[in-house]
Amino acid sequence: MIKLHDLHFVPFIAESKITAAIDDLAKQLNQDLKDENPLFIGVLNGAFMFFSEVLKRFNHDCEVSFIKLSSYQGTQSTHQVNELIGLNEDVSGRTIVVLEDIIDTGNTIEVLYETLKNKECSDIKIATLFFKSEVYNKQIHIDYFGIEIPNRFIVGYGLDYNGLGRNLTEVYQLKRSNMTNLVLFGPPGAGKGTQAEVLKQKYNLIHISTGDVFRYNIKNATELGTLAKSYIDKGQLVPDEVTINMLNAEVDKNPEAKGFIFDGFPRTEAQADSLGDLLASKGSEVSAMVALEVDDEVLVERLLERGKTSGRPDDADEGVIRNRIKVYYDETAILKNYYQKEEKYFGVDGVGAIGEITDRLSQVIDKF
Ligand code: 5GP
Repeated sequence: MIKLHDLHFVPFIAESKITAAIDDLAKQLNQDLKDENPLFIGVLNGAFMFFSEVLKRFNHDCEVSFIKLSSYQGTQSTHQVNELIGLNEDVSGRTIVVLEDIIDTGNTIEVLYETLKNKECSDIKIATLFFKSEVYNKQIHIDYFGIEIPNRFIVGYGLDYNGLGRNLTEVYQLKRSNMTNLVLFGPPGAGKGTQAEVLKQKYNLIHISTGDVFRYNIKNATELGTLAKSYIDKGQLVPDEVTINMLNAEVDKNPEAKGFIFDGFPRTEAQADSLGDLLASKGSEVSAMVALEVDDEVLVERLLERGKTSGRPDDADEGVIRNRIKVYYDETAILKNYYQKEEKYFGVDGVGAIGEITDRLSQVIDKF
């Protein structure tokens, strides 16, 4: 999460995705305009980054120019005046490609288009990196766009919020909520289930246990449950996409939630990326990965003790217990590393009375 002036923004579109979209867009321009000697016109300020990336990929003769649309309040207080500044070239008879950073309602591009049309260009093509197609309400055809986005306020990759954020190499969207989303980890016997229950009550969070979500969907034969079962029945792993869609449905069931505790997911980096994307699509993010830390010997002791009464065969055998703990650390190490890079990993001492451990967890959670 980043802060620009008074507002918080969360990651929304990764640089790699933007670059791939520009690759595609430039490929089309290369195909369509190879013999045209087009004049690329960049609309300042926002388009500077997109402009240079497109130009680096255009392999034929071309020329460049930049314009600025300054809008200012006219003498009549409510009258908006748009003035095109900076176009010094003679554009009559030329193929023009306008490169915009973003097209929203289309007001700006309409003014631009009309102004250029009056200058008798032979062809005007419009290319934009981001396109809010849901809110675009003009007739002008958008010839090329990089990425369609929903109606959100974004910054980065040339786009600003009151002057800041243009230098960011990925795109962020305005954080829409103050949700606290935790990814909860703990080795077998660490008391994760107990703490999840307490934290859920204390912070009014929704506990999403992936195992429970699977069982619920399969039992109720939901579309996703049936799909998941078809893989399980064949002895195959359920694809991440199916799991993430189930989690998404779970998140959508709780639109007023203060946040979620994710339990049993993610298990891989790819899943962590997907969870990030899921939450980003809701204007939110993973706040923290919280892992209960308990010494192996204490865990073994606790589980053997539990095995005496629980009747769980996997709690009765020390070899099995040690292997389960090892599997946990092997799996968790990747995610610990992942969230540590984002400064979101918090290890919490899981030895002590239930209340003491909750207090330690709360010290982390209260930061958000
Ligand atoms: P229009 O509604 O005329 O298509 O868009 C007007 C202008 O508003 C754009 O050229 C851009 O400068 C700004 N704009 C629209 N949407 C966004 C957004 O999500 N983020 C930022 N930073 N600017 C935007």
